[in-house]
Amino acid sequence: MCPLIPGSPQGGTDLEKHRDLLMVENERLRQEMRRCEAELQELQELQAKPATPCPGCEHSQESAQLRNRLSQLQLEVAENKGMLSELNLEVQQKTDRLAEVELRLKDCLAEKAQEEERLSRRLRDSHETIASLRAQSPPVKYIIKTVEVESSKTKQALSECQARNQHLQEQVAMQRQVLKEMEQQLQSSHQLTAQLRAQIAMYESELERAHGQMLEEMQSLEEDKNRAIEEAFARAQVEMKAVHENLAGVRTNLLTLQPALRTLTNDYNGLKRQVRGFPLLLQEALRSVKAEIGQAIEEVNSSNQELLRKYRRELQLRKKCHNELVRLKGNIRVIARVRPVTKEDGEGPEATNAVTFDSDDDSIIHLLHKGKPVSFELDKVFSPQASQQDVFQEVQALITSCIDGFNVCIFAYGQTGAGKTYTMEGTPENPGINQRALQLLFSEVQEKASDWEYTITVSAAEIYNEALRDLLGKEPQEKLEIRLCPDGSGQLYVPGLTEFQVRSVDDINKVFEFGHTNRTTEFTNLNEHSSRSHALLIVTVRGVDGSTGLRTTGKLNLVDLAGSERVGKSGAEGNRLREAQHINKSLSALGDVIAALRSRQGHVPFRNSKLTYLLQDSLSGDSKTLMVVQVSPVEKNTSETLYSLKFAERVRSVELGPGSRRAELGSWSSQEHLEWEPACQTPQPTARAHSAPSSGTSSRPGSIRRKLQPSGKSRPVPV
Ligand code: ADP
Ligand code: MG
Repeated sequence: MCPLIPGSPQGGTDLEKHRDLLMVENERLRQEMRRCEAELQELQELQAKPATPCPGCEHSQESAQLRNRLSQLQLEVAENKGMLSELNLEVQQKTDRLAEVELRLKDCLAEKAQEEERLSRRLRDSHETIASLRAQSPPVKYIIKTVEVESSKTKQALSECQARNQHLQEQVAMQRQVLKEMEQQLQSSHQLTAQLRAQIAMYESELERAHGQMLEEMQSLEEDKNRAIEEAFARAQVEMKAVHENLAGVRTNLLTLQPALRTLTNDYNGLKRQVRGFPLLLQEALRSVKAEIGQAIEEVNSSNQELLRKYRRELQLRKKCHNELVRLKGNIRVIARVRPVTKEDGEGPEATNAVTFDSDDDSIIHLLHKGKPVSFELDKVFSPQASQQDVFQEVQALITSCIDGFNVCIFAYGQTGAGKTYTMEGTPENPGINQRALQLLFSEVQEKASDWEYTITVSAAEIYNEALRDLLGKEPQEKLEIRLCPDGSGQLYVPGLTEFQVRSVDDINKVFEFGHTNRTTEFTNLNEHSSRSHALLIVTVRGVDGSTGLRTTGKLNLVDLAGSERVGKSGAEGNRLREAQHINKSLSALGDVIAALRSRQGHVPFRNSKLTYLLQDSLSGDSKTLMVVQVSPVEKNTSETLYSLKFAERVRSVELGPGSRRAELGSWSSQEHLEWEPACQTPQPTARAHSAPSSGTSSRPGSIRRKLQPSGKSRPVPV
């Protein structure tokens, strides 16, 4: 018997078992599917929730990745679901076909059973007939035949049945084959289901992992949130506590203030009562305060007066000390400067050096004149190696004294070509005393700017053939006059002399350039002309002390004198003779003035030349004079050098101010500069000679243009 024949308990069980198993499996898969769907739904809901704002949280990125992964998984699950439903459909179809086949098989089997039943019944009947026939005699033979006939029929029927049975068995085998195929199909779908299940398991584990991560993340976020809440809570508690404490403090303060407030209220009421009488009290208090202030002002005034008095005394003392110092040093200082030998000196014996110095004493100069050594002692001697700065160093103390209100004269004296202009003006690359002096004045004035206000003005003039010209004026050829002030003060002034205020080195350069241009356009041979004229740079420094109102005026005269060389009587005529006469006259006058000052004569002949007349307030009194005697070192100039040095030594021994150095005085002749004419000593009104006002700056000269004080004592005195 076939084990799979339907109806047989064995075969029916196997097929049904398979089908039942498949259906159970199917059901289980459906349930899993539903569960997965439910989870998915959950996840989707979670995903759909607005992302918890967690800026900067590292989990948000991870969460986004997980969400992406989840959506991928969802897609895959959807695909699998599709596949599963297809498989389900297929299984359903196969189950239907199987049920059909089973039904047909059942029908066939029932038919077969019926046929067998009928055949066996006929067989039994036939057996019974045969047996009954055998029991009968001859007729039995016949009967046997009949039976045989009948038996062959039966046999035929049997064979037919057997053939049918065979056919049925074939059909069953065929059905079994179909069943086998179906079993195989079932097996393969089983495998597919197993694979799908494995995939689903994998997805599930992934889902579980993602879910776990999400949960962890949510947990950590939750923890963070809780922590933050706890911290905030703790802080709030602390703050609350502080606020409570403050409140308690304020309460206690309030409690303590209440009595104070009561007292204040009482006081206020008391004051209110008092205020009614306040105007009277106020008047009283005002009166007394006014009196006190008045007294204080008086005291301050008197102490101010005292201070002012002391300050003035101090200034006087300073002036005295300065005068004393000047007296001790001598207020006429003479230095010599020897220029280097230049190409212009030529070559040969005439150009040999005739000047030597004392290595131990820088005030000694030796000159070899016509084979005879002659030595001179001056205040200082500069050798050819001395720089412009070295020379300036020597004169800068004089220059700064201008700021204190002293008048200063610096002369460059010497024969033409000895270096006067080089020392005074210098070159653009290496400026001389003029520019350095102004620079120094600027910086000194700046240092004092906190207390004093200074103005520095500059005039430039030239004296040629006894005519005074303004080098900064619009008409330099115009001759200027030195006049007495019409106000009867006895002061001098030069009407029309231009005065420029200078504030910087640039200004100075412009002024110098302007003066130079004026001179150049005026004279075709400037070199020759300048050696025969005196060039004056007059710097006036006016100061006002902001706190005391004290005023000072100091004047610095920088003079590049005309060449001191003597012109032989016979060698000159016409213009040259006139020039020489004028130069001699003015240089002699300078000598005369110095001689008169030295010998303290009642009359000092300032008016004998324009030069001395113009410079009279800078030559007299406690003014200071520095003469730079320029020396040519070469043999051919020794006569002039000797002459210059003699002149210098004599000038040096003269004093301008009180006290004297008479012991040092050498012989002096006002004629020494004159070859042809004696210095005319015009009698001067005595009032102008020594009319020193004892005090009051109002009478001080303001500028050489406005007023030139004739007095011998022209230092400013505090107001
Ligand atoms: P002065 O004005 O007395 O006639 P200068 O000043 O014109 O003489 O000088 C004559 C020449 O000598 C100029 O070329 C000048 O540059 C030069 N000289 C004068 N003194 C010096 C010195 N100390 N160093 C260098 N050169 C000098
Ligand atoms: Mg010169």
